Amino acid sequence: RQNARESLYLVLNFAKNFYQQQLTQTDEGQSVGVSYFRERGFTSDIQKKFELGYSTDTWDALTKEALSKGYTADILLKAGLLIHKEGSQTAGYDRFRGRVIFPIHNVAGKVIAFGARILKTDKSQPKYLNSPETEVYHKSDILYGIFQAKNAIRQQEACYLVEGYTDVVSLHQAGIENVVASSGTSLTTEQIRLIGRFTPNITILYDGDMAGIKAALRGLDLVLEEGLNVSIVLFPDGEDPDSYVRRVGAEAFKDYLKKASRDFITFKTETLLQDAGNDPFRLAAVIGEVVNSIIKIPDAIKRQVFFHRTSEMMKVDEQMLISEGNKLLRKLH
Ligand code: ATP
Ligand code: MN
Ligand code: MN
Ligand code: MN
Repeated sequence: RQNARESLYLVLNFAKNFYQQQLTQTDEGQSVGVSYFRERGFTSDIQKKFELGYSTDTWDALTKEALSKGYTADILLKAGLLIHKEGSQTAGYDRFRGRVIFPIHNVAGKVIAFGARILKTDKSQPKYLNSPETEVYHKSDILYGIFQAKNAIRQQEACYLVEGYTDVVSLHQAGIENVVASSGTSLTTEQIRLIGRFTPNITILYDGDMAGIKAALRGLDLVLEEGLNVSIVLFPDGEDPDSYVRRVGAEAFKDYLKKASRDFITFKTETLLQDAGNDPFRLAAVIGEVVNSIIKIPDAIKRQVFFHRTSEMMKVDEQMLISEGNKLLRKLH
């Protein structure tokens, strides 16, 4: 088992080097891949730091090279790099073709998977392709960028969570290095605990559209349950951290983070209150929802602070909130 994992790490590292070399040492890599990263404003330093690469628009460039170096088709398949066609005489074809490559590292810095973006988005192909689940890659356990971010997370005692690969890379370039990405899936307990190994303070940077807000309201009770302090920053509609930092620059971006950051319970209460308007039945439902989030917080003192704060926001009696909370807690236990 240990050996099986080791040989996966080896072939994944080989592939990472190959994609990097295709990016920097081939004409296609230069004219297509490097130009693409430049257009996005990624310097060559940041390309190196994240070990970004390029897969040429050919069927089996990686597979051929790997086989010639003694890697087997079987290990390429297990690493998710090779796709075998049923009944075919050849080994198969490369999973990633004609895409820029984002290697995904584990906490220790080993490459465990890849994310790969097409250069021009159109409807015929998914924008991103990812490695499948393998023996070393469990999507729900890892966060993109954790290896590059972990020291900064410890130093700053805070972690930013974004959606995408390019958000992570862009923010690093802007000097914000305590940032990881969930890669478009909803947060899992394992991912939250991974952040919790380095800091209890997490700030979620989501899109300002309805989808982003809904995702935030849905997923974050889980983070509270793990005892983490959650804040949230919404971006203007249609923007993500990458586009926003490129538009306004690093300093204005940092100011915006300070100004727009709200703790999750306050954010949730405000958002739901706005939604409910003056309808007393909907207001009653809001109170229930807010209490339900507050009781997820393991720390009794923090719970007390939030009962107090939200009772003022919702203009209801604090003692009533507390006794509702206690009722719900008794039901849970
Ligand atoms: P870009 O700026 O290059 O368009 P993005 O990161 O802003 O990329 P989003 O559409 O916001 O892209 O998606 C966020 C993340 O979700 C991506 O970084 C990627 O990890 C994941 N993702 C997006 N589209 C797909 C897809 N079609 N298949 C798998 N994962 C995807
Ligand atoms: Mn998005
Ligand atoms: Mn995005
Ligand atoms: Mn984007």
